[in-house]
Amino acid sequence: MKKLKIAIYDFTDCEGCEVKLCSIKEKLVDLVESFDIVNWRLAQDACLDGPYDAAIIEGTPVTEHEVALLKELREKSALIIALGACASIAGIPGIMNRSERKKWYDKIYGKGYKPAGIDALPLSAYIKVDHMIHGCPIDEDELVRTLEELRAGKTPCYRGYSVCFECKQAGNPCRLLNKEICFGPITQGGCKAVCVSAGSPCYGCFGYREEGNIEGLVRILRGFATPAEIRAHLTMFFNQIPEYKAAFDNALKKKVVRKVKP
Ligand code: SF4
Ligand code: SF4
Ligand code: SF4
Repeated sequence: MKKLKIAIYDFTDCEGCEVKLCSIKEKLVDLVESFDIVNWRLAQDACLDGPYDAAIIEGTPVTEHEVALLKELREKSALIIALGACASIAGIPGIMNRSERKKWYDKIYGKGYKPAGIDALPLSAYIKVDHMIHGCPIDEDELVRTLEELRAGKTPCYRGYSVCFECKQAGNPCRLLNKEICFGPITQGGCKAVCVSAGSPCYGCFGYREEGNIEGLVRILRGFATPAEIRAHLTMFFNQIPEYKAAFDNALKKKVVRKVKP
Protein backbone atom coordinates (compact mmCIF):
# COMPACT_ATOMS: atom_id res chain seq x y z
CA MET A 1 0.00 0.00 0.00
CA LYS A 2 1.26 3.48 -0.90
CA LYS A 3 2.30 5.47 2.16
CA LEU A 4 0.63 8.86 2.58
CA LYS A 5 3.06 11.80 2.58
CA ILE A 6 2.38 13.88 5.69
CA ALA A 7 3.84 17.21 6.82
CA ILE A 8 3.39 18.54 10.35
CA TYR A 9 3.79 22.30 10.72
CA ASP A 10 3.29 24.73 13.55
CA PHE A 11 2.72 28.46 13.79
CA THR A 12 2.15 30.45 16.99
CA ASP A 13 0.97 28.28 19.88
CA CYS A 14 2.34 26.43 22.90
CA GLU A 15 3.09 23.21 20.92
CA GLY A 16 1.08 21.24 23.46
CA CYS A 17 -0.92 19.55 20.72
CA GLU A 18 2.25 18.30 19.01
CA VAL A 19 3.41 16.98 22.39
CA LYS A 20 0.09 15.10 22.53
CA LEU A 21 0.89 13.73 19.07
CA CYS A 22 4.23 12.43 20.37
CA SER A 23 2.50 11.00 23.44
CA ILE A 24 0.48 8.43 21.49
CA LYS A 25 3.79 6.46 21.36
CA GLU A 26 3.19 2.85 20.21
CA LYS A 27 0.13 3.95 18.26
CA LEU A 28 2.25 6.56 16.45
CA VAL A 29 4.85 3.89 15.59
CA ASP A 30 2.03 1.71 14.23
CA LEU A 31 0.56 4.59 12.21
CA VAL A 32 3.94 5.61 10.82
CA GLU A 33 3.93 2.27 8.95
CA SER A 34 1.18 3.80 6.80
CA PHE A 35 2.41 7.38 6.77
CA ASP A 36 5.62 8.91 5.55
CA ILE A 37 6.17 11.94 7.79
CA VAL A 38 8.38 13.92 5.44
CA ASN A 39 8.44 17.23 7.31
CA TRP A 40 8.15 17.71 11.10
CA ARG A 41 10.37 20.41 12.57
CA LEU A 42 9.66 19.50 16.19
CA ALA A 43 10.50 15.81 16.00
CA GLN A 44 12.87 15.01 13.13
CA ASP A 45 15.65 16.36 10.92
CA ALA A 46 14.01 15.52 7.59
CA CYS A 47 12.14 18.53 6.19
CA LEU A 48 11.13 17.68 2.63
CA ASP A 49 9.15 19.97 0.42
CA GLY A 50 5.64 19.10 -0.91
CA PRO A 51 3.43 18.05 -2.51
CA TYR A 52 1.88 16.39 0.55
CA ASP A 53 -1.15 14.14 0.86
CA ALA A 54 -1.96 15.97 4.07
CA ALA A 55 -0.51 18.85 6.09
CA ILE A 56 -1.36 18.81 9.79
CA ILE A 57 -1.04 22.36 11.10
CA GLU A 58 -0.86 23.43 14.74
CA GLY A 59 -1.10 27.07 15.83
CA THR A 60 -2.10 30.18 13.97
CA PRO A 61 -0.09 32.65 11.84
CA VAL A 62 0.68 35.99 13.50
CA THR A 63 2.79 37.64 10.77
CA GLU A 64 2.15 38.23 7.07
CA HIS A 65 5.14 36.00 6.35
CA GLU A 66 3.44 33.11 8.19
CA VAL A 67 0.18 33.75 6.33
CA ALA A 68 2.12 33.45 3.04
CA LEU A 69 3.64 30.14 4.22
CA LEU A 70 0.18 28.87 5.20
CA LYS A 71 -1.17 29.70 1.73
CA GLU A 72 1.81 27.91 0.18
CA LEU A 73 1.03 24.83 2.29
CA ARG A 74 -2.56 24.92 1.03
CA GLU A 75 -1.25 24.87 -2.55
CA LYS A 76 1.02 21.92 -1.82
CA SER A 77 -1.37 19.75 0.23
CA ALA A 78 -4.33 17.66 -0.84
CA LEU A 79 -5.75 17.92 2.69
CA ILE A 80 -5.26 20.53 5.41
CA ILE A 81 -5.97 19.39 8.94
CA ALA A 82 -6.03 21.94 11.77
CA LEU A 83 -4.50 20.53 14.94
CA GLY A 84 -5.91 21.98 18.15
CA ALA A 85 -7.88 25.04 19.13
CA CYS A 86 -5.18 27.58 18.14
CA ALA A 87 -5.47 26.39 14.54
CA SER A 88 -9.19 25.65 14.46
CA ILE A 89 -10.63 28.63 16.40
CA ALA A 90 -7.58 30.89 17.10
CA GLY A 91 -7.51 29.54 20.67
CA ILE A 92 -5.20 31.09 23.25
CA PRO A 93 -3.33 33.45 20.84
CA GLY A 94 -6.73 34.88 19.86
CA ILE A 95 -7.72 35.84 23.41
CA MET A 96 -5.87 39.16 23.21
CA ASN A 97 -8.11 42.21 23.56
CA ARG A 98 -7.52 43.75 20.13
CA SER A 99 -8.85 47.16 21.07
CA GLU A 100 -6.12 47.50 23.73
CA ARG A 101 -3.27 46.26 21.58
CA LYS A 102 -1.94 49.68 20.51
CA LYS A 103 -2.13 51.01 24.07
CA TRP A 104 0.15 48.22 25.33
CA TYR A 105 2.60 48.47 22.41
CA ASP A 106 2.92 52.21 23.11
CA LYS A 107 3.39 51.59 26.83
CA ILE A 108 5.95 48.77 26.50
CA TYR A 109 7.89 49.69 23.35
CA GLY A 110 7.22 53.42 23.12
CA LYS A 111 5.17 55.45 20.65
CA GLY A 112 6.21 55.03 17.02
CA TYR A 113 6.92 51.30 17.38
CA LYS A 114 5.63 49.44 14.32
CA PRO A 115 4.65 45.88 15.28
CA ALA A 116 5.10 43.11 12.70
CA GLY A 117 2.38 41.03 14.33
CA ILE A 118 -1.18 40.68 13.08
CA ASP A 119 -4.28 39.49 14.95
CA ALA A 120 -4.46 35.76 15.62
CA LEU A 121 -7.29 34.24 13.57
CA PRO A 122 -8.26 30.64 12.83
CA LEU A 123 -6.57 29.02 9.79
CA SER A 124 -9.94 29.08 8.03
CA ALA A 125 -9.72 32.90 7.90
CA TYR A 126 -6.99 32.47 5.25
CA ILE A 127 -7.39 29.08 3.58
CA LYS A 128 -9.86 26.21 3.17
CA VAL A 129 -9.44 23.76 6.06
CA ASP A 130 -10.58 20.19 5.34
CA HIS A 131 -10.80 18.90 8.90
CA MET A 132 -10.19 20.08 12.47
CA ILE A 133 -8.85 17.96 15.32
CA HIS A 134 -10.35 19.96 18.15
CA GLY A 135 -9.28 20.79 21.67
CA CYS A 136 -6.83 22.70 23.83
CA PRO A 137 -5.06 20.39 23.93
CA ILE A 138 -6.37 17.78 21.50
CA ASP A 139 -7.71 14.47 22.75
CA GLU A 140 -5.44 11.50 21.86
CA ASP A 141 -8.33 9.23 20.88
CA GLU A 142 -9.71 11.87 18.51
CA LEU A 143 -6.26 12.23 16.96
CA VAL A 144 -5.83 8.47 16.48
CA ARG A 145 -9.37 8.19 15.07
CA THR A 146 -8.62 10.93 12.51
CA LEU A 147 -5.30 9.36 11.48
CA GLU A 148 -6.93 5.94 11.16
CA GLU A 149 -9.65 7.40 8.94
CA LEU A 150 -6.96 9.02 6.77
CA ARG A 151 -5.11 5.72 6.60
CA ALA A 152 -8.32 3.99 5.48
CA GLY A 153 -8.71 6.57 2.70
CA LYS A 154 -11.79 8.16 4.30
CA THR A 155 -12.45 11.85 4.84
CA PRO A 156 -12.30 12.37 8.63
CA CYS A 157 -15.63 13.31 10.21
CA TYR A 158 -16.80 14.82 13.51
CA ARG A 159 -18.60 13.12 16.38
CA GLY A 160 -22.35 13.46 15.99
CA TYR A 161 -22.95 14.86 19.47
CA SER A 162 -22.13 17.72 21.81
CA VAL A 163 -20.11 17.70 25.06
CA CYS A 164 -23.38 17.18 26.97
CA PHE A 165 -23.69 13.62 25.61
CA GLU A 166 -20.33 12.60 27.09
CA CYS A 167 -21.03 14.60 30.23
CA LYS A 168 -24.20 12.56 30.83
CA GLN A 169 -22.29 9.35 30.08
CA ALA A 170 -19.81 10.39 32.77
CA GLY A 171 -22.71 10.77 35.23
CA ASN A 172 -22.12 14.46 36.00
CA PRO A 173 -24.95 16.56 37.42
CA CYS A 174 -25.80 19.33 34.92
CA ARG A 175 -24.27 22.68 35.87
CA LEU A 176 -27.10 24.59 34.17
CA LEU A 177 -29.61 23.10 36.62
CA ASN A 178 -27.37 24.39 39.38
CA LYS A 179 -27.39 27.87 37.79
CA GLU A 180 -23.76 27.66 36.66
CA ILE A 181 -22.58 28.68 33.19
CA CYS A 182 -21.57 25.89 30.81
CA PHE A 183 -21.14 25.86 27.01
CA GLY A 184 -21.42 22.06 26.68
CA PRO A 185 -24.70 22.10 24.69
CA ILE A 186 -23.22 24.07 21.77
CA THR A 187 -19.71 22.54 21.84
CA GLN A 188 -18.55 19.73 19.57
CA GLY A 189 -18.17 16.46 21.51
CA GLY A 190 -15.08 14.26 21.59
CA CYS A 191 -13.24 15.46 24.71
CA LYS A 192 -15.08 13.08 27.09
CA ALA A 193 -16.30 16.15 29.03
CA VAL A 194 -13.04 16.24 30.97
CA CYS A 195 -13.48 19.75 32.37
CA VAL A 196 -16.99 19.22 33.67
CA SER A 197 -16.01 15.87 35.20
CA ALA A 198 -13.19 17.72 37.00
CA GLY A 199 -15.54 20.39 38.34
CA SER A 200 -15.00 23.14 35.77
CA PRO A 201 -17.44 24.50 33.17
CA CYS A 202 -17.05 23.76 29.46
CA TYR A 203 -15.58 26.84 27.75
CA GLY A 204 -15.90 25.36 24.26
CA CYS A 205 -12.32 24.49 23.27
CA PHE A 206 -13.71 21.81 20.91
CA GLY A 207 -15.38 24.54 18.90
CA TYR A 208 -18.95 25.18 17.93
CA ARG A 209 -21.09 22.19 17.08
CA GLU A 210 -22.91 22.88 13.81
CA GLU A 211 -26.41 22.22 15.12
CA GLY A 212 -25.72 24.08 18.39
CA ASN A 213 -28.57 26.35 19.50
CA ILE A 214 -26.79 29.47 20.72
CA GLU A 215 -30.02 31.41 21.15
CA GLY A 216 -31.57 28.63 23.26
CA LEU A 217 -28.47 28.34 25.45
CA VAL A 218 -28.25 32.10 25.99
CA ARG A 219 -31.95 32.14 26.95
CA ILE A 220 -31.24 29.55 29.68
CA LEU A 221 -28.06 31.33 30.84
CA ARG A 222 -29.88 34.68 31.11
CA GLY A 223 -32.14 33.06 33.70
CA PHE A 224 -29.26 33.28 36.21
CA ALA A 225 -26.26 35.06 34.64
CA THR A 226 -25.72 38.65 33.50
CA PRO A 227 -24.66 39.44 29.90
CA ALA A 228 -21.23 40.49 31.26
CA GLU A 229 -20.78 37.10 32.95
CA ILE A 230 -21.76 35.27 29.76
CA ARG A 231 -19.42 37.46 27.68
CA ALA A 232 -16.54 36.79 30.08
CA HIS A 233 -17.06 33.07 29.51
CA LEU A 234 -17.08 33.64 25.75
CA THR A 235 -13.67 35.28 25.65
CA MET A 236 -11.89 31.93 26.08
CA PHE A 237 -12.77 30.31 22.76
CA PHE A 238 -15.91 31.55 21.01
CA ASN A 239 -15.08 35.23 20.54
CA GLN A 240 -12.54 34.68 17.79
CA ILE A 241 -14.98 33.45 15.15
CA PRO A 242 -17.09 36.37 13.85
CA GLU A 243 -20.18 34.17 13.14
CA TYR A 244 -20.23 32.74 16.68
CA LYS A 245 -19.64 36.12 18.24
CA ALA A 246 -22.43 37.66 16.16
CA ALA A 247 -24.81 34.83 17.12
CA PHE A 248 -24.05 35.45 20.82
CA ASP A 249 -24.37 39.22 20.38
CA ASN A 250 -27.79 38.82 18.75
CA ALA A 251 -28.98 36.37 21.39
CA LEU A 252 -27.74 38.64 24.20
CA LYS A 253 -29.63 41.60 22.71
CA LYS A 254 -32.96 39.79 23.01
CA LYS A 255 -35.15 40.77 25.91
CA VAL A 256 -35.33 38.24 28.73
CA VAL A 257 -38.91 37.36 29.56
CA ARG A 258 -39.00 36.18 33.17
CA LYS A 259 -41.91 34.04 34.29
CA VAL A 260 -43.87 35.69 37.11
CA LYS A 261 -45.02 33.28 39.78
CA PRO A 262 -48.84 33.40 40.26
S1 SF4 B 1 -4.59 24.32 21.22
FE1 SF4 B 1 -3.91 24.65 23.34
S2 SF4 B 1 -2.50 22.94 23.78
FE2 SF4 B 1 -2.77 23.06 21.54
S3 SF4 B 1 -1.09 24.33 20.82
FE3 SF4 B 1 -2.85 25.70 21.16
S4 SF4 B 1 -2.59 26.47 23.29
FE4 SF4 B 1 -1.27 24.67 23.05
S1 SF4 C 1 -22.88 20.32 32.82
FE1 SF4 C 1 -22.52 21.30 30.84
S2 SF4 C 1 -21.78 19.68 29.51
FE2 SF4 C 1 -22.71 18.70 31.28
S3 SF4 C 1 -24.82 18.29 30.62
FE3 SF4 C 1 -24.84 20.26 31.69
S4 SF4 C 1 -24.58 21.79 30.06
FE4 SF4 C 1 -23.98 19.80 29.21
S1 SF4 D 1 -15.26 20.21 28.43
FE1 SF4 D 1 -15.31 21.91 26.96
S2 SF4 D 1 -13.54 23.19 27.48
FE2 SF4 D 1 -13.23 21.17 28.46
S3 SF4 D 1 -12.04 19.95 27.00
FE3 SF4 D 1 -14.21 19.56 26.57
S4 SF4 D 1 -14.76 21.04 24.98
FE4 SF4 D 1 -12.87 21.74 25.91
